[in-house]
Amino acid sequence: MMNGDANYPLRDPLSQDDPEVYAIIRREKDRQFRGLEMIASENYTSRAVNDCLSSCLTNKYSEGMVGQRYYGGNEHIDEIETLCKERCLKAFGLDPEKWGVNVQPYSGSPANFAVYTALVEPHGRIMGLDLPDGGHLTHGFYTATKKVSATSIFFESMPYKINLSTELIDYDQLQDNARLFKPRMIIAGVSCYPRHLDYARFRQICDENGSLLMADMSHVSGLVATGLTSNPFEHCDVVTTTTHKTLRGPRSGVIFYRRGQKGVDKTGQPIMYDYEDKINQAVFPGLQGGPHNHQIAGVAVAMRQAADPTFKEYQQQVIKNAQALASGLKEAGYRIVTGGTDNHLVWVNMKSVGLSGGKAEKILEDVSIACNKNTVPGDKSALNPSGIRLGTPALTTRNMKENDIATVVKFIDEAFKIAIDVQTKSGPKLVDFKKVLKEEEFETRVVSLRNQVEAFARKFPIPGLDEL
Ligand SMILES: *Cc1c(COP(=O)(O)O)cnc(C)c1O
Repeated sequence: MMNGDANYPLRDPLSQDDPEVYAIIRREKDRQFRGLEMIASENYTSRAVNDCLSSCLTNKYSEGMVGQRYYGGNEHIDEIETLCKERCLKAFGLDPEKWGVNVQPYSGSPANFAVYTALVEPHGRIMGLDLPDGGHLTHGFYTATKKVSATSIFFESMPYKINLSTELIDYDQLQDNARLFKPRMIIAGVSCYPRHLDYARFRQICDENGSLLMADMSHVSGLVATGLTSNPFEHCDVVTTTTHKTLRGPRSGVIFYRRGQKGVDKTGQPIMYDYEDKINQAVFPGLQGGPHNHQIAGVAVAMRQAADPTFKEYQQQVIKNAQALASGLKEAGYRIVTGGTDNHLVWVNMKSVGLSGGKAEKILEDVSIACNKNTVPGDKSALNPSGIRLGTPALTTRNMKENDIATVVKFIDEAFKIAIDVQTKSGPKLVDFKKVLKEEEFETRVVSLRNQVEAFARKFPIPGLDEL
């Protein structure tokens, strides 16, 4: 490509500059188009958000806050960040006198770590929903032999759990344990839990123990913005979120914190919230360097989209589709954890049909349906989980409706039937299962089903299909 002008290669489009990387991205785009994306934490962001991500904003250093940067030339970056913050508050109906927002975290995990760094001292105590029960790693996960998440290395964490008979969060047990553990912070947030959270109950438990309440609404922030699930802002001190799940923005993270007056002390003097500086300083210079301004622009675009009435229609359809998925699978004989769903995800317990979560995930992957294996309440081992997690945000972005979900249910059921037949022959070991799956009679069934799935998926366009 070099033609004597040293700058020439810098002006080439990716397809010419680096055909190898270009080809991989094209293959990934085709995978995203021909398959059914049912990973509950994924979505297809808009063309407009993608435009931000590939913009010149990635070139700029802007450490510091708006108006107080450590680099020159930030007048337009300041415009972008200011607009992004205004739109974040607007999307969630927040009064700027009472809530502030930091939009610089690189993603959800760094956002959570910044909050703990700011508000929980080293080895301070936190309580989050246990990972195998539907919580997130960054809520303090550890096992008997390993402190898995850094949030359990630098902070002392005690999990709360799901009640095995109701399959709902055991608030009573959380209350008992919080009285003993006296956590500095309780985290209300889920990665695999299909029901609304009771933030009022969390608040009451926090108030008993002088604990802070943080909501991590990563999975459900699109539903919160549209008023379709319980609202954490009414009860929490801090709310974190990713922006790339139901919210459908770029991969990024955001922290909302209360500001202004908290109340009055015994002498009538005002008590002010003091989270703002601590959180801002924990993000930078505490944990991060230069903000990713291309992401921040993408968040601004996504937050504007989230405030548009059509976004509510989208989220309503996400829920309808999840409910159609849950009831369809139930009719086909599968056990749904908690019996159904209030949100975008469906938690399936595969024990009743004798398939492990690993095999369920594997067979679906072979027929171009993406999901996660997941523990279900009562699982002894996180290594061999008994369930799967399915979600409808991505399929709904492709404009699927309940009748399309009924077709998807048929595909899933057919895939599981193949897996059950394979297992009858192979026995329970995954290595044997994978071997038998390759035998001709099963391979033929898998290929035929995959062709049907892909032909169906290709009827539903994805955003930016014809772009890079
Ligand atoms: C996805 C998720 C995160 C982490 O987000 P990343 O962007 O992957 O770091 C944190 N908390 C919850 C509840 C999540 O679901």
